Amino acid sequence: AQQHLAGNKLPRYVRVNTLKTTVEDTVDYLKREGFSYLGQASRLDDLTLKEKHFVMDQHLPELLVFSPKTDFHDHFLYKAGHIILQDKASCLPAYLLNPPPGCHVIDACAAPGNKSSHLAAIMKNKGKLFAYDLDAKRLATMSTLLLRAGVTCQQLANQDFLKVDPYSPQFKDVEYILLDPSCSGSGMVCLRGDVSSADQEKDQARLASLASFQLRCLNHGLKFPGLKRLVYSTCSIHSQENEEVVTACLQQNPGFRLVPLMAQWPERGLEPLTKCLRASTAKTRTHGFFVALLEKYSEAVEKKQ
Ligand code: SAM
Repeated sequence: AQQHLAGNKLPRYVRVNTLKTTVEDTVDYLKREGFSYLGQASRLDDLTLKEKHFVMDQHLPELLVFSPKTDFHDHFLYKAGHIILQDKASCLPAYLLNPPPGCHVIDACAAPGNKSSHLAAIMKNKGKLFAYDLDAKRLATMSTLLLRAGVTCQQLANQDFLKVDPYSPQFKDVEYILLDPSCSGSGMVCLRGDVSSADQEKDQARLASLASFQLRCLNHGLKFPGLKRLVYSTCSIHSQENEEVVTACLQQNPGFRLVPLMAQWPERGLEPLTKCLRASTAKTRTHGFFVALLEKYSEAVEKKQ
């Protein structure tokens, strides 16, 4: 119950969908509706807000932050796809991958599609976004979400990413991959609770099986011949699904290395993977999250020369 309370105390984050509107217009619209805009946040405590007050996030400029009780589900801006209701931590993967307009991108485990819609906004709907998910129902939800968000550069497929052929000619220009595979969800504040020791044993087996799936997905992603960068994320707090998966992957793929992420971000991956980011209720006022960015090493060397 306490964890649930913590979930209710997280700020409400609103990502402005730049395919449909601008941050300025959204701020103006909300001010006209009686919200008070306090400018850009500069420290963590600025995210603790009174009802009807809001700020621009200090790390992600397209993110607006509201008090925990604010609910936009019935709001015009949400229904019209101008705003996306998405936790701050889950905005990191697309933001950090930052695929330029016109490029080819894969979202490997994409449904329900908030990160795909974010990628499309960064790509300005130009280029190609291949998006896969095993679950047909979640993919149907994703179609609706992308339609509402005005996304047009996507190609959705109800397919196992592990069975997508990296060497198929249609993927020869794929330079960016976002991989946000199924995980334990242990970072989701509302899902956490007390666990008995029998459950803990079951959890260990489940974690091991998730970690092996996540590593297979990562290794598969790195096979795409034109790949430059891959972002890996989970909403798990367990190192087995995070740092340990990335460490094993780097050992198996010596042509890739980690990109150091956002020096100003307050929570890092566990030692020695401090180039990666973590997020948590205490340090970032978000759900628990992990992000790593891998880049092809030879590309990096070529760029420097
Ligand atoms: N990235 C999504 C978003 O931001 O909305 C959330 C993805 S969720 C954490 C993981 C997804 O992976 C689930 O929708 C699940 O159905 C899908 N999935 C699991 N195994 C898969 C596989 N082998 N190939 C493709 N998708 C898979």
